[in-house]
Amino acid sequence: MGLFDHDRYVELTMHFRCNLLCEHCMIEGTMDRLEPESMDRFRELLEYNRVNRVRDGLILTGSEITLRRDLPDLARVARQNGFEHVRIQTHGMRLADPEYCRELVDAGIDEYFVSVTAADAETHDAIPKCRARSRRPYEVSRTSRHSKG
Ligand code: SF4
Repeated sequence: MGLFDHDRYVELTMHFRCNLLCEHCMIEGTMDRLEPESMDRFRELLEYNRVNRVRDGLILTGSEITLRRDLPDLARVARQNGFEHVRIQTHGMRLADPEYCRELVDAGIDEYFVSVTAADAETHDAIPKCRARSRRPYEVSRTSRHSKG
């Protein structure tokens, strides 16, 4: 068995906007037309899982879920309704802000799936459309490595 039992997770796309323009993005150009799940659907899922306990983990994703200002609130209410884990999928730019990270952790987000374009900042910058963009995900990676222990 892997680290995560994916059958025990449910994923909701709660946001369809992104502040990057990755060359390889599969949904760039369609984000304006895609509809995220509604808050009614979100509450419905939480209530169903609170009663039936079919999932342990909730994955909140989007295009870029950290652009939702109420992300901590979504996580908090998911934990209050019985989800043992809340995971986000993110490009990681906002995770360079320690205060924001603390807010997410305090809200109950305990798993972070961070998507980066390349293995290091130099390779990232070698991709023409990425060069102008932030290196913050790589800075986050360095910061978290250095702050361990
Ligand atoms: S970070 Fe993800 S969603 Fe945003 S443009 Fe890049 S691939 Fe697309």
